[in-house]
Amino acid sequence: MTDLRELYQEVILDHGRRPRNFGELPEANRHAEGYNPLCGDTARVFLNLDGGVVKDARFLGKGCSISTASASMMTEAVKGKTLAEIEALFTRFHGLVTGTAQGVPELGKLTVFAGVSEFPVRVKCASLPWHTLKAALDGSRAPVSTE
Ligand code: ZN
Repeated sequence: MTDLRELYQEVILDHGRRPRNFGELPEANRHAEGYNPLCGDTARVFLNLDGGVVKDARFLGKGCSISTASASMMTEAVKGKTLAEIEALFTRFHGLVTGTAQGVPELGKLTVFAGVSEFPVRVKCASLPWHTLKAALDGSRAPVSTE
Protein backbone atom coordinates (compact mmCIF):
# COMPACT_ATOMS: atom_id res chain seq x y z
CA MET A 1 0.00 0.00 0.00
CA THR A 2 2.89 2.35 0.79
CA ASP A 3 4.44 1.65 -2.61
CA LEU A 4 1.16 2.39 -4.29
CA ARG A 5 0.88 5.64 -2.39
CA GLU A 6 4.39 6.64 -3.46
CA LEU A 7 3.55 5.83 -7.04
CA TYR A 8 0.42 7.97 -6.80
CA GLN A 9 2.44 10.85 -5.39
CA GLU A 10 4.99 10.50 -8.16
CA VAL A 11 2.31 10.72 -10.85
CA ILE A 12 0.72 13.78 -9.22
CA LEU A 13 4.08 15.53 -8.81
CA ASP A 14 4.99 14.75 -12.42
CA HIS A 15 1.76 16.25 -13.76
CA GLY A 16 2.10 19.16 -11.34
CA ARG A 17 5.57 19.99 -12.65
CA ARG A 18 4.96 19.24 -16.32
CA PRO A 19 1.25 19.72 -16.92
CA ARG A 20 -0.14 18.23 -20.14
CA ASN A 21 -2.47 20.24 -22.38
CA PHE A 22 -1.39 23.49 -20.77
CA GLY A 23 -2.23 26.58 -22.82
CA GLU A 24 -5.04 28.23 -24.71
CA LEU A 25 -7.05 26.38 -27.27
CA PRO A 26 -7.67 28.54 -30.37
CA GLU A 27 -10.50 26.25 -31.58
CA ALA A 28 -12.25 26.36 -28.20
CA ASN A 29 -16.01 26.90 -28.32
CA ARG A 30 -16.49 26.39 -24.57
CA HIS A 31 -14.59 28.17 -21.84
CA ALA A 32 -14.94 28.73 -18.10
CA GLU A 33 -12.95 30.08 -15.20
CA GLY A 34 -12.75 28.76 -11.67
CA TYR A 35 -11.23 29.84 -8.41
CA ASN A 36 -10.51 28.07 -5.15
CA PRO A 37 -10.16 30.84 -2.52
CA LEU A 38 -9.10 28.35 0.15
CA CYS A 39 -5.80 27.60 -1.60
CA GLY A 40 -5.63 30.37 -4.21
CA ASP A 41 -5.85 27.99 -7.18
CA THR A 42 -7.19 29.33 -10.45
CA ALA A 43 -8.25 27.32 -13.48
CA ARG A 44 -9.35 28.24 -16.97
CA VAL A 45 -10.67 25.38 -19.03
CA PHE A 46 -10.96 25.49 -22.83
CA LEU A 47 -12.90 22.89 -24.76
CA ASN A 48 -13.65 22.12 -28.34
CA LEU A 49 -17.03 20.44 -28.26
CA ASP A 50 -18.24 18.95 -31.52
CA GLY A 51 -21.32 16.80 -31.94
CA GLY A 52 -21.59 16.10 -28.22
CA VAL A 53 -17.97 14.93 -27.99
CA VAL A 54 -15.03 16.81 -26.45
CA LYS A 55 -12.53 16.82 -29.30
CA ASP A 56 -9.86 18.76 -27.45
CA ALA A 57 -9.29 20.21 -24.00
CA ARG A 58 -6.68 22.53 -22.57
CA PHE A 59 -6.27 24.59 -19.46
CA LEU A 60 -4.46 27.54 -17.99
CA GLY A 61 -4.08 28.35 -14.34
CA LYS A 62 -1.90 28.87 -11.36
CA GLY A 63 -2.17 26.66 -8.36
CA CYS A 64 -0.73 24.01 -6.11
CA SER A 65 0.54 20.75 -7.54
CA ILE A 66 -2.74 18.96 -6.74
CA SER A 67 -4.90 21.38 -8.71
CA THR A 68 -2.42 21.56 -11.60
CA ALA A 69 -2.06 17.78 -11.76
CA SER A 70 -5.82 17.35 -11.53
CA ALA A 71 -6.39 19.77 -14.44
CA SER A 72 -3.64 18.12 -16.45
CA MET A 73 -5.01 14.61 -16.00
CA MET A 74 -8.60 15.77 -16.44
CA THR A 75 -7.86 17.26 -19.86
CA GLU A 76 -6.27 13.96 -20.87
CA ALA A 77 -9.21 11.97 -19.51
CA VAL A 78 -12.04 13.88 -21.21
CA LYS A 79 -10.64 14.02 -24.74
CA GLY A 80 -12.77 11.98 -27.10
CA LYS A 81 -15.48 11.47 -24.48
CA THR A 82 -19.18 12.21 -24.82
CA LEU A 83 -21.01 14.52 -22.43
CA ALA A 84 -22.67 11.53 -20.74
CA GLU A 85 -19.30 9.80 -20.27
CA ILE A 86 -17.81 12.98 -18.80
CA GLU A 87 -20.77 13.38 -16.45
CA ALA A 88 -20.24 9.81 -15.20
CA LEU A 89 -16.51 10.41 -14.85
CA PHE A 90 -17.13 13.59 -12.86
CA THR A 91 -19.47 11.75 -10.49
CA ARG A 92 -16.95 8.94 -9.93
CA PHE A 93 -14.07 11.37 -9.48
CA HIS A 94 -16.05 13.41 -6.97
CA GLY A 95 -16.90 10.23 -5.06
CA LEU A 96 -13.22 9.25 -5.03
CA VAL A 97 -11.79 12.54 -3.72
CA THR A 98 -14.56 13.13 -1.20
CA GLY A 99 -14.33 9.51 -0.01
CA THR A 100 -18.07 9.04 -0.52
CA ALA A 101 -17.77 6.39 -3.25
CA GLN A 102 -18.50 2.76 -2.42
CA GLY A 103 -15.10 1.11 -2.83
CA VAL A 104 -12.71 2.45 -5.44
CA PRO A 105 -14.52 3.70 -8.54
CA GLU A 106 -13.41 2.72 -12.05
CA LEU A 107 -11.26 5.70 -12.91
CA GLY A 108 -8.11 4.41 -14.56
CA LYS A 109 -5.20 6.79 -14.07
CA LEU A 110 -7.34 9.26 -12.11
CA THR A 111 -7.32 6.79 -9.21
CA VAL A 112 -4.04 8.45 -8.14
CA PHE A 113 -6.19 11.11 -6.47
CA ALA A 114 -7.64 8.61 -3.97
CA GLY A 115 -5.31 9.87 -1.22
CA VAL A 116 -6.79 13.35 -1.49
CA SER A 117 -9.90 12.20 0.42
CA GLU A 118 -7.75 12.06 3.57
CA PHE A 119 -7.03 15.78 3.29
CA PRO A 120 -10.30 17.77 3.25
CA VAL A 121 -8.51 21.01 2.31
CA ARG A 122 -7.07 19.33 -0.80
CA VAL A 123 -10.42 18.03 -2.02
CA LYS A 124 -11.25 21.48 -3.42
CA CYS A 125 -7.87 21.71 -5.15
CA ALA A 126 -8.50 18.40 -6.91
CA SER A 127 -12.11 19.14 -7.80
CA LEU A 128 -11.69 22.77 -8.97
CA PRO A 129 -10.75 21.85 -12.58
CA TRP A 130 -13.73 19.48 -12.75
CA HIS A 131 -16.21 22.08 -11.52
CA THR A 132 -14.74 24.48 -14.06
CA LEU A 133 -15.07 21.86 -16.79
CA LYS A 134 -18.71 21.35 -15.87
CA ALA A 135 -19.33 25.11 -16.02
CA ALA A 136 -17.71 25.23 -19.47
CA LEU A 137 -19.95 22.40 -20.70
CA ASP A 138 -23.03 24.02 -19.16
CA GLY A 139 -22.07 27.26 -20.91
CA SER A 140 -22.28 29.27 -17.69
CA ARG A 141 -20.70 32.71 -17.81
CA ALA A 142 -20.11 33.34 -14.12
CA PRO A 143 -16.75 32.23 -12.73
CA VAL A 144 -16.89 29.11 -10.58
CA SER A 145 -15.85 29.24 -6.95
CA THR A 146 -15.33 26.20 -4.75
CA GLU A 147 -16.58 28.22 -1.75
ZN1 ZN B 1 -4.66 23.98 -4.14
